[in-house]
Amino acid sequence: MTNISEPAWFPIALRLDGVRVLVVGGGMIAANKVRLLLAHRARVEIIAERLDEEMRAWEEDGAITHIATSADEPTLRATLPGCRLVYAATDDRAVNRSVAKLAHGMNIPVCAVDDPQPSTFITPAQVHRGLVRIAISTGGAAPVLARRLREQVESSIPEGTGTLAVFMQQQREHVGAHCPDISRRRQVWETFLDGTGAQAARAGDTTRARAILDDILASTTPRGEVWLVGAGPGDPDLLTLRALHMMQNADCVLYDQLLSPGLLDRVRRDAELVFVGKRRNKHTMPQEDINAELVRRAQAGQRVLRLKGGDPFVFGRGGEEIEALLEAAIPFQVVPGITAANGCAAYAGIPLTHRDCAQACLFVTGHARADGTLHLPWDSMARAGQTVVIYMGVSALPALCAQLMEHGLPPDWPAAIVERGTRPDQRVVTGTLGTLAAQARAADIGSPALIFVGEVVRHRVISPA
Ligand code: SAH
Repeated sequence: MTNISEPAWFPIALRLDGVRVLVVGGGMIAANKVRLLLAHRARVEIIAERLDEEMRAWEEDGAITHIATSADEPTLRATLPGCRLVYAATDDRAVNRSVAKLAHGMNIPVCAVDDPQPSTFITPAQVHRGLVRIAISTGGAAPVLARRLREQVESSIPEGTGTLAVFMQQQREHVGAHCPDISRRRQVWETFLDGTGAQAARAGDTTRARAILDDILASTTPRGEVWLVGAGPGDPDLLTLRALHMMQNADCVLYDQLLSPGLLDRVRRDAELVFVGKRRNKHTMPQEDINAELVRRAQAGQRVLRLKGGDPFVFGRGGEEIEALLEAAIPFQVVPGITAANGCAAYAGIPLTHRDCAQACLFVTGHARADGTLHLPWDSMARAGQTVVIYMGVSALPALCAQLMEHGLPPDWPAAIVERGTRPDQRVVTGTLGTLAAQARAADIGSPALIFVGEVVRHRVISPA
């Protein structure tokens, strides 16, 4: 509850283009405000004996007018009339307060910087994307908190939101002409915002965005689509902002076993969760059936989230799913995720490349064929000067190590295995090609695990406690 004695700050958006704004002060505090005011096209006048460098540059460019005197009462009385706002922005609180008092007496809104008590307005922190502005204020109580909140909001507003707003503004009349009914209009925009149309508009592709908007306007049934989203290797904090956004907007989520429970907790509560995981030799759902299920649900108008461990295009069969969608003309979006190699390397402290010993990095699959054989490019894998990262290689680990040695790497060549990387129960075993298979067996390392081969393992670093 707001304390009754606290000022009731009312947020408004003020038009400043071409109007006079007075700033008292010539230092950094004043410069911060002037920068903001100039960005809003105000006509800024400064009362200050001296100007700092940045302000002098503005003056030389003719962007501001400098009244070179102290902030004495006669000067203020002569300058204040006709100003829309006043900033008292010197580093002397007493001076700021006397400016505030004078301005207040003349009914001109005044902000004494960092001093809400004598102020009649305060400047909120803002997040700015073109036409879109989000103002955050703590009523002057905690400016640092406001800035921190601003950072949080900043990171959750996608790039291109300003461009999107302009597009929607331009299409308002068009949409209004097609749907006089306000709730239908809202539904059209909601569908547009959730889909590929908004993405096109954000990227500035107005032709495509308009075509998608027209499709939505023309369709009588809701328009389904599929979002192929990488969920990262396990730690929910490694989700991208975009993935999180989609998890909160999907109608249903098709996921597999690589996802940790903390991830699914972040899905919209009333979304339907469908497990389509594939365990080795225990196929719960063949890939063709998953493809068909994606198509069926999208055709029924659902926004289908296909959530995949790591990145959808790294050993994720994302390519095949997309082909099926293309064939059925289902719109889709692909969102990258942090692949296991990146996640495990970072959380285990093993660099993937290193100036001294690894100029390249190779991702390979260690998945054996049905007959148990491994068909891998051994000659390009068994080389110095690179890191080899092997996905799906736990069961073939002894064969992998043996083959790499047979193809020329020495038995003391560094190697490591990371089990359940980035999760709270992550385990890392480091050794050599000669020892790793036995070490992993002794430690009972299971899937999912990632194998690293190369001298980078020797450069492993762990943060001091
Ligand atoms: N698309 C995924 C990879 C799918 S293949 C990605 O980009 O990461 C599945 C293999 O990925 C597993 O067998 C294992 O080798 C690796 N993997 C996935 N998550 C892992 C984790 N948290 N820790 C270790 N390995 C992982």
